[in-house]
Amino acid sequence: ILLAISDLLCIVVWQGSALEQAIISQRPKLEKLIATTAHEKMPWFHGKIDREDSEQRLLRSSRVNGKFLIRQRENNGRNVSFALCLLHNNQVMHYRIDKDRAGKLSIPDGKKFDTLWQLVEHYSYKPDGLLRVLTETCPRPSHDSVQGATGGILSRIKSYSFPKPGQKKVPVENPYNFRSNLELPKPNITEAMPMDTQVYESPYADPEELRSTTVKRSDLTLEDGELGSGNFGTVLRGVYQMKKTQKIVAVKILKNDDNNTAVKDEMLREASVMQQLDNPYIVRMIGICEAENLMLVMELAELGPLHKFLQKNKHISMKNITELVHQVSMGMKYLEEHNFVHRDLAARNVLLVTQHYAKISDFGLSKALAEEENYYKAKGHGKWPLKWYAPECMNYLKFSSKSDVWSFGVLMWEAFSYGQKPYKGLKGNEVIQMIESGERMSAPADCPAEMYNLMRKCWTYKPDERPGFSVVEPRLRHYYYDISQ
Ligand code: ATP
Repeated sequence: ILLAISDLLCIVVWQGSALEQAIISQRPKLEKLIATTAHEKMPWFHGKIDREDSEQRLLRSSRVNGKFLIRQRENNGRNVSFALCLLHNNQVMHYRIDKDRAGKLSIPDGKKFDTLWQLVEHYSYKPDGLLRVLTETCPRPSHDSVQGATGGILSRIKSYSFPKPGQKKVPVENPYNFRSNLELPKPNITEAMPMDTQVYESPYADPEELRSTTVKRSDLTLEDGELGSGNFGTVLRGVYQMKKTQKIVAVKILKNDDNNTAVKDEMLREASVMQQLDNPYIVRMIGICEAENLMLVMELAELGPLHKFLQKNKHISMKNITELVHQVSMGMKYLEEHNFVHRDLAARNVLLVTQHYAKISDFGLSKALAEEENYYKAKGHGKWPLKWYAPECMNYLKFSSKSDVWSFGVLMWEAFSYGQKPYKGLKGNEVIQMIESGERMSAPADCPAEMYNLMRKCWTYKPDERPGFSVVEPRLRHYYYDISQ
């Protein structure tokens, strides 16, 4: 375990903030991964060897009673099973270790364990049905080292390969899968993690891929079929040829029927904001392409807007929703730390890469704040998403990270109500009256109390008393960790 944790720390240093963010958002899954694969580091784990081989190994050199090893048995169907091989009076006893449906390991009629190393620890001090306690580890032959065989978690992350261009779906194969001649079992994690996708790391993380804000038209291939559309035009899927790799991208194409410079400027402003942001939970801009139309090339988030996804997928668990809104809070904390206000945070502007990976998008209204300012003052009321706006936005035209927190509360409400419309049936001015009178939306059905309490905190009337994302994010994180135990 210590080796695995030190591997993770190496990765943090090696890969910097993207991995730090991955570890924060995926800690429960990573802990499970470490716990279920840590045995590969143990000298007593000999991988897939047969019964005869295990007996030869145990009878070689010292024949201390209680000397033991664990081997992986031939798979019976889809179930992985192991054998604990124990030396007793010059004879080798073989105890089958089965994995039940919940992934728990046990010898027949024995106590159940989450991991092999917990099982070994237990039987090292208590026979509990075995002929004797485990004493001495039977070491693996020197040419057969664990490190050499699997390369540890670090090499598994490093050996991750991005999907091939033209692949329709972002593959969900886990990069932690073993490439081992020991044929160890795969970790018991079926959910893809954000870092399994091609859009976790910046496309320019490789220093040899020179960052430029312009994309050559000849490097861009557009595919048929719209991903979506908005005021400006359409969004298509495409493939962008970079120096070393190809990326599947989303391309926002400006319709320029009447060559409207105001719309063009708006899109260029959005691009200039996005260009400054680099966070795994924010859709990154890859570049601008000026050709038959003005095009904004972005990372692809294939599953589309959060509210629509949840409307169609009512089976998604509250834990999964918490995971996604926590990721949004991480992206928003990054914006807060970098003095950006989003001004249009809503479930429609959160796009999903996978069911377990959300990214914030649509920076059309966003503003970078000057160093000495902590709010942006709008020149007048515009076409605003009033139901997502804090009272000070409407009353004083003041926008800050605190007003984004208010919007985040509404986004949480949308997510926990599976994409319902907030303040349904009310007009903009009725919503304002409701807020001013101190009333707030009630909790969505089955919404966990902790999550509704957090929404209410986000809807604190005075911005000074409202928490920032530096408070909201850890609250969500801890709740998510708690329910992931
Ligand atoms: P407006 O700019 O007028 O507010 P909008 O907010 O609807 O329009 P976008 O959200 O930028 O415009 O894009 C419209 C739709 O295109 C989205 O709802 C989504 O379905 C799709 N889309 C946008 N960006 C991406 C992306 N990076 N990956 C996948 N789909 C995207």
